[in-house]
Amino acid sequence: MKQISRRTFLASSVRAALFGAYAGSGAAFAHSASWSNWSGGQTCQPAGRYDIGSEEELTSLLRNTLGPIRPVGSGHSFSPLVPTDGHLVVIDQLSGILDSDSENNQVTLGAGSRLGDLGAQLDAIGQGMINLPDIDRQTVAGAIATGTHGTGVTLQALSSFITSLRLVTPNGNVMDIDSSDEDLLHAARVNLGALGIVTQVTMQNREAYKLKKREWAAPTEDILANFDELAASHRHFEIFPLVYSDYSLVLSIDETDEPIGEVELEAEPTSDASIAESLGLSDNPTPAERLRQSNATASRIQPSESVDISHKILSNVRNSRFNEMEYSVPAEVGAECLREILKTIYDQAIDVNFVLEYRYVGADDDWLSMAYGEHPHATISIHRAASEDYRPYFNVIEPIFWKYGGRPHWGKVHNLTHLELTELYPRFKDFMELRRELDPQGRMLNPHLRALFNA
Ligand SMILES: Cc1cc2nc3c(=O)[nH]c(=O)nc-3n(C[C@H](O)[C@H](O)[C@H](O)COP(=O)(O)OP(=O)(O)OC[C@H]3O[C@@H](n4cnc5c(N)ncnc54)[C@H](O)[C@@H]3O)c2cc1C
Repeated sequence: MKQISRRTFLASSVRAALFGAYAGSGAAFAHSASWSNWSGGQTCQPAGRYDIGSEEELTSLLRNTLGPIRPVGSGHSFSPLVPTDGHLVVIDQLSGILDSDSENNQVTLGAGSRLGDLGAQLDAIGQGMINLPDIDRQTVAGAIATGTHGTGVTLQALSSFITSLRLVTPNGNVMDIDSSDEDLLHAARVNLGALGIVTQVTMQNREAYKLKKREWAAPTEDILANFDELAASHRHFEIFPLVYSDYSLVLSIDETDEPIGEVELEAEPTSDASIAESLGLSDNPTPAERLRQSNATASRIQPSESVDISHKILSNVRNSRFNEMEYSVPAEVGAECLREILKTIYDQAIDVNFVLEYRYVGADDDWLSMAYGEHPHATISIHRAASEDYRPYFNVIEPIFWKYGGRPHWGKVHNLTHLELTELYPRFKDFMELRRELDPQGRMLNPHLRALFNA
């Protein structure tokens, strides 16, 4: 019987990302051009965009212009954080390593740096990022603004690695924020692009390191029964539960001294249809048929292992465009929440092939972090191919997240309103107060943020 590698399966399910938004042109101002995010699910027709060449240019711009502005990174958020009919502000040119401190493994970076461009630059100076998200096309500023995180019960979101940042406020003042004002630092890191424009950050890294990745398929219930132990015994541990299946794709990543091993490459199916094909599905199968067929296929997935420099192991390339909803729930109810989602997909025969993603993220103190608090959170993601309307699927699943006290990922689709957010994020009101202080005219608000902040 034909064997399937776990990578082939997963790559076909959530493959991705060519950066489709703006690339910095060097021009200070460009007239209106339509903008769209990576998935194509968010679009706008801004009045124009400013490509910022220096901090001075930015402060002068903010002091001498009026009207709405929205900073944009690499456009990899699924939620409508960026769309504006005002001006987009692009800081692609403020990128790269500006300074490094080898004793403390820290670097100061232009906030427009792409995560993926940093790996090799950091490696060259003996440093490695503590963690990375599933892809690395995001800008540093964009990633921290939404609380972007990777996997690991002891590893916090990327914002937690930022020891200081420079914020240019909407009225053009420059604020350097660091641990001398802990509260302000916790407020300013996960900022939704609502407090001003971050131009540079200092990032805590560690010495460069290698990681070993293991991937295999296993019955979801077997893994969930031991998830806490598995998460505690691996630096990174997560599962991609298959829909209509008793199986998950499992991923563990640990530090290693082993030599770098070649990653075996295979032709990969690229679409939802080809996932169905790789599952051996017939046309219009019933849920019971899908379960039987996908279990048979999953049981043939071959384990694989690879060793490489940390940044090459932690992030992936995802070429199939999709939209995503992700919520965090307290880790102790994570498995229950996941089970209810999988059962709902099955019971309601929701026609989706994309895997889910289930991982732990360490607790932190950033006011708007989805892992704010004292205990780790489980994060659960659902995906829908970009060519399909995600709303019918996401609208059925979202109330399940709410039932378990879920907090939304700011960069992903959600339908929560001001009132609910105030209850879910203990420092939400404090954040709104700070936002009002820094942006009394509401220059940085767009319709989505106005609704979230009731502003
Ligand atoms: C394929 C894919 C995989 C993903 N995987 C993960 C994952 O594993 N984990 C995870 O947590 N998330 C993940 N995400 C979500 C993604 O990390 C976030 O949405 C992130 O914010 C996108 O960064 P960006 O640079 O594209 O920012 P954008 O989406 O362009 O902007 C995001 C926010 O940052 C603000 N912003 C941008 N630049 C600045 C600035 N200079 N100053 C102030 N605010 C600014 C914007 O105004 C906006 O509010 C994924 C997204 C995709 C498309």
